[in-house]
Amino acid sequence: MTRYYFHGDLVEAGGFYCASCDAKVDGAEHFAAGACADPQRQKARLKATKKEYAVLKKQGYFRPDDAENVLTGRVAGRRRDRSEAW
Ligand SMILES: [Zn+2]
Repeated sequence: MTRYYFHGDLVEAGGFYCASCDAKVDGAEHFAAGACADPQRQKARLKATKKEYAVLKKQGYFRPDDAENVLTGRVAGRRRDRSEAW
């Protein structure tokens, strides 16, 4: 199965997924300033992501229910190793 990432989800190898950039970003600060930090856009993005996931889930993608996400404040004190490739 392929792991599906929501906007702001912690990526296992370190960093976070930004759906606006469609890329992995290094730090939580990416979501704290600039276009990717806009609350309206983030809300819209999260909504679109959830809709998309509902479809992709049936195609073999998965996202754990307890996935850590910087935007929902569910990031625990896990060490973020940036040396690993995504
Ligand atoms: Zn971004």
